[in-house]
Amino acid sequence: VNRLPWSSEFAKAVPDAKWGEPMSAHTTFAIGGPADCFVEAKDIETLKRVFELARKHRLPIFHLGFGSNLLVRDGGIRGIVLKLGGEFNKLEKLEGRRVRAGAAVRLPRFVMFCAEHDLAGSEPLVGVPGTVGGALVMNAGTREGEIGPLARVVEWFDPERLEAVSKPASEVKFAYRHSDLEGRLVIGAELELSVGDKRDIMRRVEALQRRRAQTQPIHTFNVGSVFKNPPGRFVAQLIEESGLKGAAEGGARISPLHANFIENHDEAKASNVLALVERARAAVRERFGLELELEMKVVGEPA
Ligand SMILES: Cc1cc2nc3c(=O)[nH]c(=O)nc-3n(C[C@H](O)[C@H](O)[C@H](O)COP(=O)(O)OP(=O)(O)OC[C@H]3O[C@@H](n4cnc5c(N)ncnc54)[C@H](O)[C@@H]3O)c2cc1C
Repeated sequence: VNRLPWSSEFAKAVPDAKWGEPMSAHTTFAIGGPADCFVEAKDIETLKRVFELARKHRLPIFHLGFGSNLLVRDGGIRGIVLKLGGEFNKLEKLEGRRVRAGAAVRLPRFVMFCAEHDLAGSEPLVGVPGTVGGALVMNAGTREGEIGPLARVVEWFDPERLEAVSKPASEVKFAYRHSDLEGRLVIGAELELSVGDKRDIMRRVEALQRRRAQTQPIHTFNVGSVFKNPPGRFVAQLIEESGLKGAAEGGARISPLHANFIENHDEAKASNVLALVERARAAVRERFGLELELEMKVVGEPA
């Protein structure tokens, strides 16, 4: 336990909290400095304790999913990083065509669960490695479909009342890689699928996986698309035509396979990735007069 003014009280209340945990171990980029305090909450009781102490000591809480859309800066994250596990990892088939998924469930597992139950419609999400919680907050998806339209009920943890609350997904605003859930801790959702046939669903899943493996560097340390596509344009093409495919800064490079991916190929720092982000922005601004907007989230402190 380190020497933060709140750490001994916190460690008593949440004994399995980790101190100075490297975020590089919790992001698909394998990049990121230490979190002051890292908690994996397995139940609502733990959430209550964490949020109560955070309120008492005015500590920021960062909600971590699978870290598959995240660049954590080299100085790490102050306060608490909260990840969900345990009971938030449950999947349940409900009446009709509905599935309840805990926020910690990862999308490929969710898609397979739906297929097992002859439920179709989630296939476009099979190659998105994040969690149901992270996907709802980001409205993750592909050209073939997003998660938002499948959601019927969204549950989150209310930090004031210290309890779980839910609301109809029709009251949530979903947009391109964005929702107004941002800032709330999503803990689960009910999603509605359509009736399908397991074999057809698996055929579509395999076709989507094959296409992804051919067009994206899925076996490298990355966070998927770095920038959002501007209306009617593809960022990958804009960056490629700006001559930056393969460009490197330290151990980071713009993927030679897909120019909207940045790869950590050799112990890259967050600062290396950010330098590439700025180079890509400047080049696309100069050549096309377009301002690129980040899709990945950048959090934490500089080194
Ligand atoms: C190889 C690869 C391919 C990808 N392909 C796609 C794709 O096709 N389409 C796509 O949309 N994305 C894609 N991504 C990006 C990523 O998987 C999605 O954005 C995903 O939704 C992020 O989920 P996560 O759980 O990893 O969230 P994180 O990266 O951990 O967090 C992302 C944001 O969500 C917030 N958050 C996470 N969990 C919660 C929660 N429970 N409650 C509240 N806030 C939360 C975080 O605070 C943060 O702001 C890809 C990534 C990789 C590595």
